[in-house]
Amino acid sequence: MAGTTIGEFYEDSNLLLSEFWRDSKHQLLPRIFKPHKWTIMHEWIVYVFNFHHWYAERHFEQRDIFSMESKIVEDAGVLLSEHPDFELLNECNFCGGCAECSKYMEINKEIRYVWDDSVLSLVHTVFHLFMSNKKFLRDFNEYISECIKSDINSLMIENHEHVVNGKIRRVSWPKWLERAIIFRDKGVCSICRKDVSGTLNLENKYAIDHIVPIASYGNNDPTNLQLLCWVCNGIKSNKSSETNNIDIPLWNVESYMIT
Ligand SMILES: [Zn+2]
Ligand SMILES: [Zn+2]
Repeated sequence: MAGTTIGEFYEDSNLLLSEFWRDSKHQLLPRIFKPHKWTIMHEWIVYVFNFHHWYAERHFEQRDIFSMESKIVEDAGVLLSEHPDFELLNECNFCGGCAECSKYMEINKEIRYVWDDSVLSLVHTVFHLFMSNKKFLRDFNEYISECIKSDINSLMIENHEHVVNGKIRRVSWPKWLERAIIFRDKGVCSICRKDVSGTLNLENKYAIDHIVPIASYGNNDPTNLQLLCWVCNGIKSNKSSETNNIDIPLWNVESYMIT
């Protein structure tokens, strides 16, 4: 799911991406104005997933749909009672009346029963994976900033309380979000890697920074935020989307350690 979601974003033809903003604008706007726990990235993951599932249902063989769906629920930790025998199902041509067909229908019922929860738990997993991929977060939010820019006139008219002077209004961060950003960035400035957690140095003040700046049509979604030290925050201009492509390592590996 993670591979497809990133793949569709960087796909040259951009077909799905170009429809995303138009189709999802209603769900995206509140998240752009004010941080929500269900983010614009969750929306994108679900959007890509739903499209691929919809496509599979129309173009794939029963066997392939089943193997895709059963993998999703089993990856989410659900154990299906059994798998149908597609040799037998092809022989009866899915008659709907034989023993194998009723077994198949029962297993599909099991899948439907846990489907939404299984998809959701995969979406959560993929989201957490993406949250540490700063390059993807920046590219994604730069794309969103282009959408905001192209719609800015109508946004100003329809959402004047959230759009000020042609830019999304700044908001203050809820505690859960500030904590999450500090934890995700391991208490270290995303640009210079200085500790700002207070563990090593109480003097180092931190700032929660918009990766794509508000001045460049950036937004207030959690995926557009990073931890910076006070100094880097002052230097990063309001036109720069600077971040670090390399995630902060848990430990350093020196070249002599590589065998
Ligand atoms: Zn049958
Ligand atoms: Zn710094």
